[in-house]
Amino acid sequence: MSFYRTYRPQVIEDIDNAVVREQLLALLHKEKKELPHAYLFTGPKGAGKTTAARVIAKLFNCEKPTKHGPCGNCEQCRAVASGTSLDVIEMDAASNRGIDEIRQLRDRIGFTPVSSPYTVYIIDEVHMLTTEAFNALLKTLEEPPAHAVFVLATTDREKVPSTIQSRCMIISFGKATSEELLHALSRIAKAEKITIDAEALSRIAKNADGSFRDAVKYLEQVSFTKGDITSATVGKTLSLSDATERGAFLSHLLTHDTKAALHDVDTMQDDGRDMKAFLVDILGDLEQKLVAAATGSEEAGWTSSEANHAISVFMRAYTELRLSPVPKLPVTVAIIEFCTERVVIVEDPPVEPKPVVKEKAPDPAPVVHSAPPAVAGGDPPVPSLGLLTFEKLVEHWPDFIVATKPYNHSVAGVLRSSRPKAVEGGIVTIEAFYKFHQEKLAEVHTKQVLGDVLKKLFGEKVKIEIVLGKK
Ligand SMILES: [Zn+2]
Repeated sequence: MSFYRTYRPQVIEDIDNAVVREQLLALLHKEKKELPHAYLFTGPKGAGKTTAARVIAKLFNCEKPTKHGPCGNCEQCRAVASGTSLDVIEMDAASNRGIDEIRQLRDRIGFTPVSSPYTVYIIDEVHMLTTEAFNALLKTLEEPPAHAVFVLATTDREKVPSTIQSRCMIISFGKATSEELLHALSRIAKAEKITIDAEALSRIAKNADGSFRDAVKYLEQVSFTKGDITSATVGKTLSLSDATERGAFLSHLLTHDTKAALHDVDTMQDDGRDMKAFLVDILGDLEQKLVAAATGSEEAGWTSSEANHAISVFMRAYTELRLSPVPKLPVTVAIIEFCTERVVIVEDPPVEPKPVVKEKAPDPAPVVHSAPPAVAGGDPPVPSLGLLTFEKLVEHWPDFIVATKPYNHSVAGVLRSSRPKAVEGGIVTIEAFYKFHQEKLAEVHTKQVLGDVLKKLFGEKVKIEIVLGKK
């Protein structure tokens, strides 16, 4: 059995996603019969939705619950974990769009559970259901028998009718943060007695793109190598680039040696390297350059505007990779864009003599198109890791609102009538449409909450800016 399945969190406290864990722990304050009977789990693949759904099943059926929730050891808990419980019905709406599944559900919904207090229906990819199936499901949700519990999971919440959503407690699973991935990886490495150093673990986490499933799969892959596992082992096993190679590539970029930089990428492609993993590593390197430049470190070699420019160009390559029929293409475009744009600017120096202040600054900032907007308060912007993009924020705006609710109900309400405007240079700009909404969101404490929630959902610390828009 794979690591991912063997080491699925079995009890609430083992759940690696902190926001979800807290929300499930909060359920323990209530009597079982007062708990919601329908849940909607939203979030990307590999974020742990199925695992959490099974924990919900245990929450309702555990024979020996403790103050931390289901025990994970009793007969019921073990049956749920092994998928043998007759009272936990797992369905996949993606198969045949759920027609048979919903029919089966309707046929048996009236029956009492076989050997547990509750029958728990877990419906995966619920957004795939046909309209007919949704209507049947809605009927059941409107008048559920006292012994039925529903856990619906989806990667595409927008496609779940609002009539269904409104009947569910919604828990949103953001992409896993690095800390959460490390939490999961360390837990498994310890149980498997794998000798792996911290650098190697964080390299795995960095390449897993917020997915628990991918992170654990990578750990399993490297666990087959003999001896201690280092960052180099990880790189080799997962066909990642090594630091020397990337160092050469970055210096070719810095000297605008388009030909050499393109050649580097050709070589990597010939060696069967994964372009996505390469970009993740390069962006990590560039982030270090940016931080070094911003803190005035001698070793940087890059100015912060050069690093910023490169980050924005390669971030775009990263997002375009998914859609590109040729994996190397977005990288090629990025290299040419970075190297040639710079040349144009160098050939065209400013006519005006530099002001005195500028001369003091180590950074002439010739490239301005990735410069972040000014922030009220004058704090320098946080270097962007690129985990949170505008597209992602738009996509997960409803999740963001839901995740804000536990912290502040009224702020979540205000967010509902506001919208994301931009994500740039580590600053998230939110557009409110009423003066009092803008004032509410712009309060220091509110901004703090919004920043914390975004950090939890996307793993990136950002600044918040609120602007007043026209409706
Ligand atoms: Zn139990």
